[in-house]
Amino acid sequence: MINIADKTKCCGCTACANICPKYCISMQADKEGFLYPKVDIEKCVNCGLCEKVCPTLHTTKKSSVEPKMYAIQFNNSKQLKESASGGAYSALSKAIVNQGGMVWGAAYDENFDVIHTYADSDEKCKKFQGSKYVQSNLGMSFTQVKEMLDSGILTCYSGTPCQIAGLKNFLRKDYDNLITVDLVCAGVPSPKLWHSYLDMQQEQFNSKVKYANFRYKTYGYQCSTMRLEFENGKVYSQSGRIDPMMNFFVSGIAKRPVCYDCPFKGENRNSDLTLFDGWHAEQLTGIKDNDKGFTLLMVHTFKGKKMLDGMQSYIDCYPVDTRKALLYDGVMVNNQPKKHEKRNIFYEVLDESGIEACKREFLHLTFKDYFLEIIKPVLYKSGAIRIVKRIKKRLHS
Ligand SMILES: Cc1cc2nc3c(=O)[nH]c(=O)nc-3n(C[C@H](O)[C@H](O)[C@H](O)COP(=O)(O)OP(=O)(O)OC[C@H]3O[C@@H](n4cnc5c(N)ncnc54)[C@H](O)[C@@H]3O)c2cc1C
Ligand code: SF4
Ligand code: SF4
Ligand code: SF4
Repeated sequence: MINIADKTKCCGCTACANICPKYCISMQADKEGFLYPKVDIEKCVNCGLCEKVCPTLHTTKKSSVEPKMYAIQFNNSKQLKESASGGAYSALSKAIVNQGGMVWGAAYDENFDVIHTYADSDEKCKKFQGSKYVQSNLGMSFTQVKEMLDSGILTCYSGTPCQIAGLKNFLRKDYDNLITVDLVCAGVPSPKLWHSYLDMQQEQFNSKVKYANFRYKTYGYQCSTMRLEFENGKVYSQSGRIDPMMNFFVSGIAKRPVCYDCPFKGENRNSDLTLFDGWHAEQLTGIKDNDKGFTLLMVHTFKGKKMLDGMQSYIDCYPVDTRKALLYDGVMVNNQPKKHEKRNIFYEVLDESGIEACKREFLHLTFKDYFLEIIKPVLYKSGAIRIVKRIKKRLHS
């Protein structure tokens, strides 16, 4: 029977809760707001399935060939703007639903909780656009995916590498009609932090949030902002340096304990496709970057390559050198996020005193940060931001 004595050994993938034949495992939030399995011992029959399925205890089979790499940009400009990078998942979703398939991904529900859900049309798949830098609640999605696969439906499932590993372990066999897509992942903050942040913003704007985008391309792809739109018509837009939610995500102070020792890293994956940010698309492809965002896509399997072929009419696609792409943009492919020395205190402060206290204690902003934020619109309009970024990248490569 699964027993989480060490939180660095559970990624919250829900595979155990989905496989339990007695339905006696529920996922419950701890003080930090991360979900962990809890067994109802009265109902448990000690079958051991929950331990067998756990991807942190038993790894899944990974591809053994060097992945092929492509830089991709979706050719629907409206949807591209809403996507985190090049909109690869939107293009893939389109290809899947056009074949009568079902697409799974992370979306906001009506309370702005991040949950895994599915869609069967291009329009409905729009909810998956954009990275939500908070752990998604998978619910009983693995069980539902299995039902879809068993009834022959082409099913595409995307998530963090640990979520894909959990799904693969749960399914216990290869399905020809399953496409899996993972992301290069720098770890996930807790849903509790996300909700404390939203509550704070809603109080400040005296209105409910109706739209959220962690990486809105306000000043182009290379300089995105957190954007919130409120029911009263007001808009909040601040860069990742200033915005507390993005700052806490990027600084590494707010991640799930397992993320600092993530066992799901590496170039070889158990997914068909892997997506990540193509910051250096210009250097990798040789074409002029339009600053609208490129996704770097790793192809691990024949199935993955077939899906890429099926997306071709919706994308601009450039094969790129795998080693160079990993060198320029793939730092998180193999590396864990560095543990922040104040990580544990951060969540204690959040629990005891709330997010305003976290801001006071852990968000150290200088006059320079605020000054850059104020002059950013001018720098963007004059083209100066793009020039500085380009010079920096040239120096880097
Ligand atoms: C928590 C997290 C950490 C990441 N860390 C890195 C990183 O360090 N380096 C890097 O290069 N890229 C990282 N990414 C990936 C990057 O943010 C983009 O998702 C990627 O470039 C694909 O962009 P796109 O425009 O092609 O996808 P989009 O069209 O924007 O599609 C977004 C995809 O991400 C999935 N998704 C969104 N939020 C979540 C979530 N909370 N949990 C699971 N799946 C989600 C959606 O289901 C969809 O499949 C991370 C993504 C997440 C969610
Ligand atoms: S040992 Fe079997 S019955 Fe008990 S919690 Fe695990 S899966 Fe459920
Ligand atoms: S199966 Fe997933 S949720 Fe269950 S204990 Fe293992 S890592 Fe945690
Ligand atoms: S860093 Fe690893 S453990 Fe954490 S969410 Fe990403 S894949 Fe899962």
